[in-house]
Amino acid sequence: MRFIAVILVLITSLSDARAACNFDIEVGDSLVFSINEMSVESTCETVNITLSHTGSLPVEAMGHNWVLSKESEYQAIAMAGMSTGVVGNYLPDGDERIIAATKLVGGGEETSLSFSIANLDSSQAYAFFCSFPGHWGVMKGVFKIV
Ligand code: ZN
Repeated sequence: MRFIAVILVLITSLSDARAACNFDIEVGDSLVFSINEMSVESTCETVNITLSHTGSLPVEAMGHNWVLSKESEYQAIAMAGMSTGVVGNYLPDGDERIIAATKLVGGGEETSLSFSIANLDSSQAYAFFCSFPGHWGVMKGVFKIV
């Protein structure tokens, strides 16, 4: 997948060198995503996320997920999800403000997700974040459609 991404980067280097449809994101035993900005091609049929937890702490102590929402709504979603616990992925059940979300993973675990961006608006500010309590204030990045 990385090889394909490299080719795409070469082809699209005049528009945006980092735009893609597939993203491999790593997290560990700290409050950091391996990327802090995602530029997604508007032509992507689906956006494919793989979230790998390379740390060793269990999900209850250092769980991470990847959640996408409008930038203006991510805090409210994270607050609303605090009471649902690990079993609820620290997300409010059925909340329509959540555009896409993986489950929570702990050390050594991996999860993936594919979703459509057909209904997203490139002029809207979107954010990705980890909804684990205490994480979302710093584990947050920019999701752009280019
Ligand atoms: Zn986290």
